[in-house]
Amino acid sequence: MNTDQQKIPQATAKRLPLYYRFLESLYATGKTRVSSTELSEAVKVDSATIRRDFSYFGALGKKGYGYNVQYLLSFFRTTLDQDEATDVVLLGVGNLGKALLRYNFSKNENTRIVAAFDINKDMVGEQIGNVPVYHTDDLAEKLEEHNVSVAMLTVPSAAAQTTGEKLVEAGISGILNFTPARLSVPTSVRVHHIDLAIELQTLVYFLKNYPLDSE
Ligand code: ATP
Repeated sequence: MNTDQQKIPQATAKRLPLYYRFLESLYATGKTRVSSTELSEAVKVDSATIRRDFSYFGALGKKGYGYNVQYLLSFFRTTLDQDEATDVVLLGVGNLGKALLRYNFSKNENTRIVAAFDINKDMVGEQIGNVPVYHTDDLAEKLEEHNVSVAMLTVPSAAAQTTGEKLVEAGISGILNFTPARLSVPTSVRVHHIDLAIELQTLVYFLKNYPLDSE
């Protein structure tokens, strides 16, 4: 991200890709404006939050008119650096790694996985979802070729720390960690953690303990 994003709270910044994706599909259908209620239903964020979020972008919706889709899109493109494609690598081509390679974020063509790495020699040389798999030993060399700053980590937990260190050494500054292990990395490296098992458990817990009111 760039420009004035210092002024945008982190919670708002996290919702930007969500808004962006929805607005892009709206634009593709030829819609020129959207109300906060419509947006709210589509992205499942309440409309007061959307209005507050958008006020940070200087996008003030007009009553009875809504927001200008094109204005919002161009704002998000600049803020999210969507005009510039971001290349990502993936480490650990197991079940989860393969699924992510096949998914390859095709809904957002500005982020793409350009290379995958594994220690398993049987995997090396394969192409999964059009992404070539290399040996982890070639990490530094391949990263130079691609100018990558973000990596996804889908190795076994026991290998997470050493792999994370290798990534940092190779100049990676952002890691999306899918392993349950907590990584210890320099403060200049941003780690976002996605533990699918915990997410699922939390949802089950909330369903049991905080049932939503049915309307
Ligand atoms: P999952 O379903 O969690 O993706 P899996 O059961 O298919 O995993 P794991 O044992 O979790 O397999 O390993 C994931 C992948 O990570 C495997 O392909 C394995 O060869 C690879 N791997 C293991 N250690 C390393 C490492 N140090 N560096 C890179 N890849 C590794």
